[in-house]
Amino acid sequence: MLFDSHTHLNLAAFDEDREQVLKRILKEKVSVINIGTCFETSKKAIAIANQYENCWATVGLHPSHTIPLKIDKNELALINSKSEFLNPETFNNEFETLLENPKVIAIGECGLDYTYLNDFSGADKEKYKKIEENEFRKQIQVAKKHKLVLCLHVRDLYNEALDILEDEHYENGGVFHFFTGNISEAKKIIEKGFYLGFSGVITYSQNLNNVIEKIPLEKILIETDAPYVAPVPYRGQRNEPLYVKEVAKKIAQIKKLPLEEIEEVTFKNAVKVFKLQ
Ligand SMILES: [Zn+2]
Repeated sequence: MLFDSHTHLNLAAFDEDREQVLKRILKEKVSVINIGTCFETSKKAIAIANQYENCWATVGLHPSHTIPLKIDKNELALINSKSEFLNPETFNNEFETLLENPKVIAIGECGLDYTYLNDFSGADKEKYKKIEENEFRKQIQVAKKHKLVLCLHVRDLYNEALDILEDEHYENGGVFHFFTGNISEAKKIIEKGFYLGFSGVITYSQNLNNVIEKIPLEKILIETDAPYVAPVPYRGQRNEPLYVKEVAKKIAQIKKLPLEEIEEVTFKNAVKVFKLQ
């Protein structure tokens, strides 16, 4: 059994055939967590979870939704945005009202990603860095208050994110999704009680082989991050949860273990970290 621990069937990329995609994963017994990225997509993730027993939801504000981000054409279609600029949101009390639903099992995705700030410079850039950090801190505090784990979106800034989590005395754990750091960052994250999520990237880049080889399977989650980054052999197509099998296959190959074992252990890991039992 497969568990896609980070996916976005809540995005507009699935508006035309969402039900078919959901039926496929139900048939293949794939469990998924649809990840909230803003208020609307958090609500949508919950609506899907209410309808399908193999789906859970998170509520969160992605760092890219905290700033007036200019989005490219491909991305506009995936999220069905009417404007070229994302309307920045703030993680306010309205998000918190969504947490009463029992299928909401984590806060996020939230975190730090300054690659979205490449178009800004000087005082603006500093201002938006601060906003990203503030929104991250708010979500850490809400996770603590509601005893939920965190689904973290962190690009490059692993040490900075760990410092903020420590500064906020956060100890509930969770997952650093789409991990692309090095072995020392991986070890530090695991030491702090977090899991590492690996995506389809590992099917076409060898950069993470060393990390996957060295860290315990008991700390690994698999994910698609659909509709983004489809794995080999689906590169260039819209990604979907069934393709998480390709990520599992690659881990089996790197760790020289049977595919069944990778599927079983990563499934158990997801159940454990998100307290699904
Ligand atoms: Zn995501």
